[in-house]
Amino acid sequence: MDALLVVNAGSSSLKFQLFGITDGGLGRQIKGQIGGIGTRPRLQAKGTDGAVLVDRNYETDDVRDLPAAIAAARDWLLTLEGFTLRAVGHRVVHGGPDYAAPVLINAQVLERLASYQDLAPLHQPNNLAPIRQAMAINPDVPQVACFDTAFHHGHPEEVNCYAMPRSYYDDGVRRYGFHGLSYEYIAERLREVAPKVAQGRVIVAHLGSGASMCALKDGHSIETTMGFTALDGLPMGTRPGQLDPGVVLYLILQRGMNAQAVSDLLYHEAGLKGLSGISNDMRDLLASDDPHAKLAIDHFIYRCGLNAGMLAAALGGVDAFVFTAGVGENSAPIRARIAAGLAWLGAELDTAANDAAATLISTPASRVALYVVPTDEELMIARHTLALLRTRQA
Ligand code: ADP
Repeated sequence: MDALLVVNAGSSSLKFQLFGITDGGLGRQIKGQIGGIGTRPRLQAKGTDGAVLVDRNYETDDVRDLPAAIAAARDWLLTLEGFTLRAVGHRVVHGGPDYAAPVLINAQVLERLASYQDLAPLHQPNNLAPIRQAMAINPDVPQVACFDTAFHHGHPEEVNCYAMPRSYYDDGVRRYGFHGLSYEYIAERLREVAPKVAQGRVIVAHLGSGASMCALKDGHSIETTMGFTALDGLPMGTRPGQLDPGVVLYLILQRGMNAQAVSDLLYHEAGLKGLSGISNDMRDLLASDDPHAKLAIDHFIYRCGLNAGMLAAALGGVDAFVFTAGVGENSAPIRARIAAGLAWLGAELDTAANDAAATLISTPASRVALYVVPTDEELMIARHTLALLRTRQA
């Protein structure tokens, strides 16, 4: 069977999925990951029927870093029979000011993507590592980069600029926005689930360990809550969301923190984790009766409402609101509280439908239709990769 591999590489985990290419399109075959890179490395993969295909622990020294994890995953993937790899699709966080769509990677493209490392120093180098390795090992297999920023590309300058001197914008200091592959998938899915609504004004709330919202008009992004980096906007598992830049100055100038310490604080120690002092996982906070857990949840709900209001203003009204990602797909109580904050826009939750995690969770009388739509960023990457492969073959 012809197959596509989708790779999503982070600092502590390497996720991969294998899709079969059929006449009807794409069929997911295998979902796997190596987690605990550098600490407790473990390779796990399952077939679509849930059957465990591999579950293997490694010595820390054997999978110390991402390149070692890539090699371990490759060694296992090579043992699979019956698949002919036609292309690899990679999740790449930053497409910089240039890329508005996925791109077939060659040495020149790779060089340009590497030049965006300064814009996403925590993610971009990890995303590029498997591309380099795959190109070296198998130069004949096409590699495709799919960007988290691309879906937001093309926002007019008054939308994506900061009120800073012009030269900063020209140097790339812009509001790029992220989670674009998720939003693009939802926009496509909404066309199937609710075609009329999909043409209207929709807010999508991607609420996972990273969280953001996107305003869609006729399926296109017109505004989003993240900006230059994935730190802005909503509070997240370990990131604070919107923060007065004066706080950063205070930490450096008055508290004597260096840049690395501030970065660690803002990326890893803030958000729900920092505010609650308990956990970055919404499930732990919901299960806790500690007042700080309640505060973290209340803050999250409040900021979701506030940001939804901002996006409603950008759209000039709202026809639908979509919940997705870990929290959005799985937590009925959080959805109920966010929906209550949308009552001023005319949203009315159908409690039974919400508890059942139905697709449509608003009442017939609701002026804002509320939906739960599971996201699938990997499938989006596979679709893009296949599309580019087919253009190349045409
Ligand atoms: P990532 O950004 O890592 O892809 P996900 O979209 O998978 O994140 O979301 C992960 C988060 O979803 C977890 O940290 C957890 O807080 C949250 N989550 C998952 N299931 C539930 C649930 N039933 N109730 C509340 N939160 C949940």
